[in-house]
Amino acid sequence: MKTLKEYFQEIKLAKKAIGHFNFSTADQLRAFVEVAVELNVPVMVATSEGEAKFVGYEQAVALVKSWQDKTGHPIFLNADHHKSWETAKAAIDAGYDTVLIDASKMPYQENVELTKKVVDYAKSKNPDMMIEGELGYLRGESEVQAKVEIKPEDYAKPEEARDFVEKTGAERLAIAFGNIHGITTEQDMHLDLDLLGKIVEVVPETNLVLHGGSGLLDNEVSDAIKRGITNVHVNTELRMAYHDALVKQFTSEPNQTTPYKFLKPSYEATKEVARKKLELFTR
Ligand SMILES: [Zn+2]
Repeated sequence: MKTLKEYFQEIKLAKKAIGHFNFSTADQLRAFVEVAVELNVPVMVATSEGEAKFVGYEQAVALVKSWQDKTGHPIFLNADHHKSWETAKAAIDAGYDTVLIDASKMPYQENVELTKKVVDYAKSKNPDMMIEGELGYLRGESEVQAKVEIKPEDYAKPEEARDFVEKTGAERLAIAFGNIHGITTEQDMHLDLDLLGKIVEVVPETNLVLHGGSGLLDNEVSDAIKRGITNVHVNTELRMAYHDALVKQFTSEPNQTTPYKFLKPSYEATKEVARKKLELFTR
């Protein structure tokens, strides 16, 4: 099978993006895999530190590997927003395909040092392993919020992007350019596509990652992909679909106690959202 890096090379040339979906249950993972197979596109599945703690690092690896073996489909497991050396190392040691080391809240020099340390460790284990770093301050949580204030200093700086990539060896870069995590109900979020264009110019070989793919207008996401984004993370919309279907299910059938019955609508709703996103990212 081709490596994740090779899939990124292809997707970049095609001006499309690879979808990245978080899971903390086996049925969410199954939904993502089935949709990716159906649409015949590579997919990244992921656990944050919290999700990994719930699923188990080795268990997440084993689950994803079982789907890789069964389908022969390109499914890659990412450790999403791992914020320390210890957790990033735990993911690499457990067998994750890739890691986002997120030291973006640290001072710039410390971000560079920790990211480089993780890149060097990953490459020592597997020279093909791609590591993602993060620049700029991505505000918000993967949930529904009224408003999230973005400050000018939160944005990724093009001059730092070049320096960061050269010093760390990160091959994917999460950038803050007007995006946030989660969904806001009292505020429209807009991307700064001019800033994206400037960053693409200084790091043309790097795969730029859009986090907070929930709650953005489809045409804005499409524009960002045409301007150089090659990876889009979605979590909140998937969580909401799962949650809302579950609430509806328990409202209509409060005495249903069989998990594979009461979880089925959530699994189906998850598939629906994942399908729409993958179609959008690859059209
Ligand atoms: Zn994120």
